[in-house]
Amino acid sequence: MGENKKLIIFGRQGSGKGTQCAKIVEALGVIHLSTGDILRSNIENQTELGKKVEPLLAAGELVDDATILEIVADRLHQDDVVAQGFILDGFPRTIDQAKGLLDILGTDGIDKAINLDVSIEEVTERILKRGRNDDVADAIKTRLELYESQTVPVIQYFDELGYVETVDGLGEESEVIERILKALQ
Ligand code: ADP
Repeated sequence: MGENKKLIIFGRQGSGKGTQCAKIVEALGVIHLSTGDILRSNIENQTELGKKVEPLLAAGELVDDATILEIVADRLHQDDVVAQGFILDGFPRTIDQAKGLLDILGTDGIDKAINLDVSIEEVTERILKRGRNDDVADAIKTRLELYESQTVPVIQYFDELGYVETVDGLGEESEVIERILKALQ
């Protein structure tokens, strides 16, 4: 696997995407670019952006596309990301974000998109086992519904462009990362 890869990872809430992302970063030296992490750090620091998005994250609703695209465009142009490559996590989540991303990257596009596949039944079971209060359970339901209605079409869109490698997310973490790295070869 060469350096400077431009990657995306898709996966439902509870698919193990966060864990696998850390392993991909370790294996390939790409930079982890998580829109959720960026938003949460803005909330923690109570920036203007943080104050604006705090209620949306609490409810599990999506932040508007223009705001998200601005954050991502800024980060993609920074030197470390250009030099090391990246893995996008939690973005793009809508078709407009996907088109915006391809505009930002230009003709090169991306190299590959991993679709970490865990069924909605399985992730629901995993999430319930973690045991959460009703408030949070509501937000998770919203996030899973938005994933089906908004993000699954994005995976189909990239699939039609030939970028998507679907990887079975069931099994040991070590087995799953092996499958991912094989799919990226
Ligand atoms: P999860 O995948 O578990 O929902 P994330 O950390 O990716 O967690 O996102 C947390 C929240 O941040 C989302 O529920 C949403 O409110 C907001 N968010 C993150 N990324 C995006 C995005 N690309 N577009 C819109 N909202 C986003």
